[in-house]
Amino acid sequence: MRSRHESRVLELLRDEGPLSRVALGERLELPRAKLAGELSRLIDSGLVEIGGPAASRGGRRSTLVHLADDLRFIAVDVGATSVAVAVTDGRCEVLANEREECDVRLGPTQVLGRVVDLAGRVVGKAPGRLMGAGVGLPGPVSFRDGMPVAPPIMPGWDRYPVREELAGKWGRPVVVDNDVNIMALGERHAGVARSLDDLIFVKIGTGIGCGIVVGGRVYRGVAGTAGDIGHIKLDDYGPACACGEVGCLEAYFGGAALARDALTLARSGRSGMLAATLEERGQLTAADVGTAAAAGDFGAANLVREGGRRLGHVIASLVSFLNPGMVVIGGGVSRLGHPLLAEVRSSVYRRSLPLATGNLPIVLSELGDLAGVTGAAWSATDHIFN
Ligand SMILES: [Zn+2]
Repeated sequence: MRSRHESRVLELLRDEGPLSRVALGERLELPRAKLAGELSRLIDSGLVEIGGPAASRGGRRSTLVHLADDLRFIAVDVGATSVAVAVTDGRCEVLANEREECDVRLGPTQVLGRVVDLAGRVVGKAPGRLMGAGVGLPGPVSFRDGMPVAPPIMPGWDRYPVREELAGKWGRPVVVDNDVNIMALGERHAGVARSLDDLIFVKIGTGIGCGIVVGGRVYRGVAGTAGDIGHIKLDDYGPACACGEVGCLEAYFGGAALARDALTLARSGRSGMLAATLEERGQLTAADVGTAAAAGDFGAANLVREGGRRLGHVIASLVSFLNPGMVVIGGGVSRLGHPLLAEVRSSVYRRSLPLATGNLPIVLSELGDLAGVTGAAWSATDHIFN
């Protein structure tokens, strides 16, 4: 068990980098002798070192304190159609990272097998002392049990013991969470929402979900499904959704819905550019909609506007309800970029109370593809440091 002060020292060194003994003492409001005791225990356990970047500046020996250089964390971001595995240092800096296509519907045995193979390769590129791992999964997760619970797009994964299996393989503690939650934590640690305590992170990819950070902690709800906004019903007579219902937000604006609408546009002759892309490649994706919209294609731009407006309605409700300090939008479909952002902004600002939106930035993810692995690493360090 670590003392409260030891945990705080580790967190400060992770979030702010090397600090002098004086600065640490001030931040923790600890007298010098007490701090020395805490530090010597951390040094003995190999987590913390004295010295670092300022040591070479000649003259007196520096008393900068920093996290040991060789601490390593495995960070895993399992998406609906890809897996990313990174290895980070104790500050959650990505040292090596690999991503490959992988359909989560292949089931846990195959997908986790790929994760373990990828991790083996990535760890080899940045060797050190493996401390723990963080894993994000694209569905509701019981954080306490370390397993997915009734995930709609992950057949075969219900209550599969992901944490136990990976902890057994790696011989280290593993933390498992929902992918949107770890993305929110990634942006909060190292991205656009740095050090904000209250924010929401909206991911628009194959599915649509929302990570909720309240008072600096992820809010998961009773069963781990908080923020599952993709299945908020917008219309009783809307398009069919993968969850079995109709009219869900995701059925209008998820990656699959955009690809479907793009196909309809192309075939009906209402988008020359999408028709040409379809002719050339035989299929269309959400990314093609973005490309065509950016190039001025009216039909494609209209799809982005419609989607952004619907997404904006839902976000406006969240803003009224939670009064967050920032809304971050990420995930593959967020590459639609500024036209999407503009539509979401105008929709939210029009529908929310001025007091809630007065200083509310609605911005795109800064970490992009690295948001998930950065947050997964942060989640793992949070577990190990506490
Ligand atoms: Zn649905």
